[in-house]
Amino acid sequence: MKTISVLGLMLLLLGSGFTGIAAADDSIDITGAVQDAMAALEVTSETSGLCVLTDAGYVKVDGETTQECIATLRKETGCSIGDGNLLAIHRSINKPLWFVIFDNETKDCVYAVYKNGAFTATKVNIDGENAKTSDGWNAMKAAIGSDAFSIVTIANAWGYGAPNDFLKCTDLHNHLCPGLSSGYLIAGYIRENYPLGPGESYTWIGCPNWCKEDAIQVILDLTPGKKSLIAKQRSGELFVKEKPLAGILIIWNDTAKSGRGVAFQYDWGETCNLSDVNLSDFKPPGGKTNPLFWTTRIKASFGLLPYLNQPDMFVSLASDEFNVTSEQLDRVKMAGVDPYIELGLEEPTEVRGDFNGDGRVTSADALILLQAAVGKITL
Ligand SMILES: [Zn+2]
Repeated sequence: MKTISVLGLMLLLLGSGFTGIAAADDSIDITGAVQDAMAALEVTSETSGLCVLTDAGYVKVDGETTQECIATLRKETGCSIGDGNLLAIHRSINKPLWFVIFDNETKDCVYAVYKNGAFTATKVNIDGENAKTSDGWNAMKAAIGSDAFSIVTIANAWGYGAPNDFLKCTDLHNHLCPGLSSGYLIAGYIRENYPLGPGESYTWIGCPNWCKEDAIQVILDLTPGKKSLIAKQRSGELFVKEKPLAGILIIWNDTAKSGRGVAFQYDWGETCNLSDVNLSDFKPPGGKTNPLFWTTRIKASFGLLPYLNQPDMFVSLASDEFNVTSEQLDRVKMAGVDPYIELGLEEPTEVRGDFNGDGRVTSADALILLQAAVGKITL
């Protein structure tokens, strides 16, 4: 028998008594905490426009899994995975259990997080319009804490009618950002323009990689573990160029043992125009300590929502279609291989005096030169 006490919100708001929670065996019962949150929002399971977000099912409490909390949330709120208004947000198993009940009518939510043996609940208005302002965002961040960006972006996106497959991407990524949206748009572009034929499969080389990779993983089931999604960083592209390179799609035909590929670029400039943000504001002075860092992402995330079904507006080709051999398919996945150079899309840049090929001239290169001078190695 596990007992979870509920503290916080109801005591503060209503001065009402403590709601004890007890469940059979080792299972966790959050019924009281959910009922308290519903009361604080002045809603019932009959109220339309409710949405639940929770990391239950992913995190553990006192060594126990938490999936039964999802059943409780469904029963008490009327929200369900099937209705698309109960969103299971992926988190590390080590993170605290939390749930949010969001009322799309008022844009109020109650955020209840379980820490140190008790739920602490906070009622806060998370209106997406207000979240675009520094003051609005700062107030939400102060009330909710480190989960604020996840909750504000995902709950509002749901409220604005974002499609369920898109919300699935936010589940894995555990926030919404314009980078994730770009991945959803790229996946849409691939589905529209490069449908798979018999014997064919996709490999996606995300280069430079950014949040988009998580959406591509969800929509197309391309994953690093299965070696169908390779992520490689590349400097000087993202938030620097209006149309950075985004990656390379390889369509491999396992029957013919041959492949074809094409490189993509993504139009961040268009994202900025439609959302009324500046490209440079994605990297403001002070970074994450500057509210502009967050409000820029929030504005661009919401700004892109009406265009999620129009990938042609943002995604374009950065190369002609080219052939890919099985050796190239293996090589582009290797560490230290620039996929654009390997596939003949860019010229290699040689650095004079860079003998070990790390792109820089360092003392390690001097050592190599010395060893060559005494005949130990041949360059
Ligand atoms: Zn992101």
